Amino acid sequence: MQGLNVKEPEQLELKEYPDAKEPEHDEVKVKLIYGGICGSDVGVYKGKIAHASYPVRPGHELIGMIAEAGEKAPYTVGERVVVEPNSFCGACEFCQAGKTNICKYKKSLGVNDDGGFAETFTISAKYVLPVPETLPSEKAVLIEPLAVIVHALEKVKVEKGVSVAVIGCGTEGMLTIAMCDYAGADITAIDISEEKLAKVNHHYPDVKTLLPSEAEADQYDIVVEAAGASASFEQGVEIVKPGGDFVVVGMAPQANVAVIRLVRKEVTIYGSIIYTMPHDFEKAIAYLNDDAFRAEPVISKIYPFQECQQAYDDAVSGRYGKILLDFQTT
Ligand SMILES: [Zn+2]
Ligand SMILES: [Zn+2]
Repeated sequence: MQGLNVKEPEQLELKEYPDAKEPEHDEVKVKLIYGGICGSDVGVYKGKIAHASYPVRPGHELIGMIAEAGEKAPYTVGERVVVEPNSFCGACEFCQAGKTNICKYKKSLGVNDDGGFAETFTISAKYVLPVPETLPSEKAVLIEPLAVIVHALEKVKVEKGVSVAVIGCGTEGMLTIAMCDYAGADITAIDISEEKLAKVNHHYPDVKTLLPSEAEADQYDIVVEAAGASASFEQGVEIVKPGGDFVVVGMAPQANVAVIRLVRKEVTIYGSIIYTMPHDFEKAIAYLNDDAFRAEPVISKIYPFQECQQAYDDAVSGRYGKILLDFQTT
């Protein structure tokens, strides 16, 4: 079977792999339908993720179909599933507290463990969840990236009348806007790209859009940093209201913050990493399965997986929303 391989940074190839192993016990063999290319896939490809290992098969946003199930796996052949791509031990102090996202022994598919961009792969059934029949695969592939935002926004209270600024309008920023829009909040989207702001305006006419230079201090009850840039983090501290909440999902390597501003304003900062399983995945599925939840603007292109180089080049360019690889094309 074929799959993608990042041999070393900047070297992506299609590779002939042996077929995925026969599932045993609680394992399932999944035939991939769509894979979403994520910022971290781009990071691995560009050699920008310190804990990545090479060569590695990329891919962690995965929707597939059960091709075979081990005797203890509660799935039947043909069922569609979404994959939770971060392993957790279930036994460490964090897992015991339900915080599987910060498990001491976490490994991430497609980063430091072979991922799912291949025609088939085998995985423990504890890392898959069924996709409802009413949810098309094109939308279901957003479950994993949306779970990141579900997890982040549970730390604060987004509701009608609350003002939220979202800094960064990539996939995670757009999904933040979708969730805040669903909750009825007053949203302001901030990005350095006029093109991205125009897209936000087009899909969400009620959302106010600003370039970073246009945002004013002390304006928002909640600020979400989804750009992963130092300047965005610094700006978040400035534009959040005194007593407000600052939720950080972007991963700027460092920032230069006026600590005195932070303290005097009594800002609460929340770091938020991925999601817990199954809670945040189940909530993400419920949102996407609700017609009132508008996430469609996030997907921008679908390529057959054989055209992975073009798909990656587009993803690297940063000019598009979520790009999908279609694995049903053989
Ligand atoms: Zn991702
Ligand atoms: Zn653990």
